[in-house]
Amino acid sequence: MHRIHILIAMDAHTISQGARSIKDAMTRELALAGLANEVRVVETGSLGIYDKGVVLVVFPDAVYYVGVKMEDVTEIISEHLIKGRIVERLQYLDMPSGEAKAGDKSARVSKQIRVVLKNAGIIDPESIEEYIANDGYEALGKALTEMTPEQVMEEVKASAMQGRGGAFFPTGIKWGFAAREKSEEKYIICNADEGEPGTFKDRLILEGDPHAVIEGMALAGYAVGAHQGYVYIRGEYHMSIARMQRAIEQARQQGLLGKNIFSSSFSFDLDIREGAGAYICGEETALIESIEGKRGEPRNKPPFPPSVGLWGKPTIVNNVETLANVPQIILKGAKWYRSLGTENSPGTKVFTMVGNINNPGLIEVPMGITLREIIYDIGHGIPEGKGFLLAQLGGTTGGILTREHLDLPLAVDTLRNAGAGMGSGALLVVDDSQCLVDLVKTFVEFFVHESCGICTLCREGNGRLLELLERMTEGKGAAEDLHLMEELANAMMRGAFCGLGQAAPIPVLGCLRYFREEFEQHLQGTCRAGKCELHAANEAAA
Ligand code: SF4
Repeated sequence: MHRIHILIAMDAHTISQGARSIKDAMTRELALAGLANEVRVVETGSLGIYDKGVVLVVFPDAVYYVGVKMEDVTEIISEHLIKGRIVERLQYLDMPSGEAKAGDKSARVSKQIRVVLKNAGIIDPESIEEYIANDGYEALGKALTEMTPEQVMEEVKASAMQGRGGAFFPTGIKWGFAAREKSEEKYIICNADEGEPGTFKDRLILEGDPHAVIEGMALAGYAVGAHQGYVYIRGEYHMSIARMQRAIEQARQQGLLGKNIFSSSFSFDLDIREGAGAYICGEETALIESIEGKRGEPRNKPPFPPSVGLWGKPTIVNNVETLANVPQIILKGAKWYRSLGTENSPGTKVFTMVGNINNPGLIEVPMGITLREIIYDIGHGIPEGKGFLLAQLGGTTGGILTREHLDLPLAVDTLRNAGAGMGSGALLVVDDSQCLVDLVKTFVEFFVHESCGICTLCREGNGRLLELLERMTEGKGAAEDLHLMEELANAMMRGAFCGLGQAAPIPVLGCLRYFREEFEQHLQGTCRAGKCELHAANEAAA
């Protein structure tokens, strides 16, 4: 029995910072110190701390160390593990609640609640035993032995959980559409084709707790009458794919996937399908086309996938975060879930907080939290004392939030009323030294690249928007360009074939609405921030 566990976060960022070498050195030095039988070093998923080098946590003390280098390994062993003295210069004091001891400094600005991320960074994601030891597969056991499929569905409906892929459609109602279809074959698809720039929360959920997603898929399968599932993972997510594959094999070995799970009449199995990097394959019908071996292009809707989906059969496509919530809802009940968040938007939301922020990373917050709390309490504010300009919530298609929204509770309905949306899971913070027009140009460039090209409004519309913005940043814009941009953006929102083309102009219109004077300044030949090509041209001319 080990008295101490050292969990080293192993994700793409920490690995690039040398996490594997530190783990090897820690294991080696512990053996030399005669502690190999007392201290266990474990690889875990992301601890949610980003941009701070190698991160590890010493349990049971729950002391987090960041920026750990090779030369720190012996100091952590000799000071913390042997003498019991925390190495304060490496300590990270701002971890989510539940992991900090009451009254200590680490709880002072904590606003997070961990439901989806409850195991991420806590357990070894490659160990099904550790998942099981933390209530894992208990919800599936409860469902299969104590509940009917209808009761599982009713519990999810009663929780009022909305899908976390961006559309926020109620999950239980979506499941109900597939459940009522009379078909022997139905499918559950986990959409892990996360393609929004700055969004990597699904990757970190899969890397940190793959069994929670498997359990959520099995519960969905039981509720709707499906026996086969597919996890569609973005091809570049090598670690997610490897961890999910290993988790599927472990679940099969334990009889938690396959035939007659928990000795019930329910059988369910899973396979992985890798995406090839097209953003459009995050759209559920394009994703289905891709699994069928075709080019990933959206289908006409209706019919919707819960009626006619994969190979023409009823299919539920749920996001990673949505599925990872399901076991907790079944285990703790809809009432518990509704106690989190707001009345109309229950539960929590996982974000990757990126951009001009002091403390970027993976966070899970209750719905209804304000932007101010996220940016200034959890994120520790804007670097270098700069001011807050805007936040873009939900990825590149997300709405624009400004200073006037800092105290707006972030929930589906309140954001909708403000003309924004919760989106998939990125929170981009932008400081007031950035050029707005240049920023919007980078958003549009992304959509020019990712438009699948089958409809004119999206293919040509994004291209024309980009031309107008380029003209503006080069000092060649015309007075009527702003009106032209608005007309074009509104036409795209109304007439593009799928959600990508319809949502692409949202940030353009948001920035035009809140920062129109910045665009007008560019038309008059000045750039407030001095960042875009227009400024460079002015400097050269001077
Ligand atoms: Fe393709 Fe864009 Fe049309 Fe969607 S809106 S079908 S991504 S061209």
